Amino acid sequence: MAENHLNTSFEFRSHFPRNESYIDYLAKLRWPNGWVCPRCQAVKARRVRRHRWLCAHCRYETSVTAGTIFQDSHLALETWFRAIWEITVGKEGMSALTLQRRLKLNSNRTAWILLHKLRQAMVPTELDRLSGVVEVDVIHRKREQTPVKGQWIAENVVIAIAAEADRAEAGRVWVQTVPDLTRTSLHVFIAAAVAPGSTVRTDGSHLYQKLRGYTHQCQTYDERNPRQEKLQHVQAIIKELNSWMLRLYPGGVSTKYLNDYLNEFTFHFNPRGDLSKWERFDRLARQAAQIKPTPYARLEKPQPVRTRGVN
Ligand SMILES: [Zn+2]
Repeated sequence: MAENHLNTSFEFRSHFPRNESYIDYLAKLRWPNGWVCPRCQAVKARRVRRHRWLCAHCRYETSVTAGTIFQDSHLALETWFRAIWEITVGKEGMSALTLQRRLKLNSNRTAWILLHKLRQAMVPTELDRLSGVVEVDVIHRKREQTPVKGQWIAENVVIAIAAEADRAEAGRVWVQTVPDLTRTSLHVFIAAAVAPGSTVRTDGSHLYQKLRGYTHQCQTYDERNPRQEKLQHVQAIIKELNSWMLRLYPGGVSTKYLNDYLNEFTFHFNPRGDLSKWERFDRLARQAAQIKPTPYARLEKPQPVRTRGVN
C-alpha cells in the first residue's frame, strides 16, 4: 500500500513486515543521500549485523540509532515507531495509559518515558517560525495570586504565546515558557518564534518597545467596535491551551517539563495543511532521528528554556 494511504494501525504495521524494515526506514531518515562515515566521510560501507554499518575505508562501525533519540534504548525500534504513529495520528495528544494500551506495553512507565522523549522531538524548528502579522502576549501567575480550580500554571511561571493573525481563522502558533517578564526575555522569545520582517502586534506594553527587525503594531481599543477582543487570535489560543491542558492532563503537569507539554500542544494544534497520516508520522520520526539521545537521568532534571534561532 502506498505510504500516503496508510490509515489504520494494522496497515501501518503491515507496511513494516519485518524488524529490519524499521531499521531500513531509520537508515533512510538518517542518511537520505546514502550512508556517510561520521569519522572519515567515506561513503562506502558494508552492513554488519542487522543495524550496523562498517566503513570500508577506516573500519569505523556505526549503529543506525547512534546519536538519535533511539540510542541505548531497550525498546525495539518497532515500539518506538508504532508509538510515533499512534501519537501523530491522534488528533490532540495521548496519555501514557492510552499509549500503553494501544501498544500492549507491560509497564506504564515505559509508555511515560516514550511520551516524554517524543515530546522533546516535537520542538518547533526554524521552519515553524511564524510570519505575516503575529500577535504576541503572555500568561503568568504571580506568587501572590491564589490558585483557582483548573489552574495549571505554577506560580511565577511566564508563558509567551505568538499566533499568526493574518486571517479570521487561527494560523500557526508558537508557545514557550520564558525565564521572566522582562523586555530581554520577550525579545528573545520573539526573535526565536517570529521570522524577521514580520509585523508583531502586541498590547502596547513597554516590554515590547524597541523591537528590532519587526514592524511593531500596538492594538488600540476600537471605539466603533467595543465588543472586539484585544489580540483576539492570541486570546483564542490561550483558551484553547487551557482547555487542552485540562482535558489531557487533568492532574496537572510538572513545571520542569512544561515546555515539553507546550511543544506537544503546538505540534498538535498547528495546522498541517493536507498532510496525510503517513506524512505526519514521518515528520515526527524524522525529528526524533535528528535530536540527540536523552539519557533517562536527564529526564528528571529541569529542561533549560530554549532560545534557539536567536543570534
Ligand atoms: Zn570511515
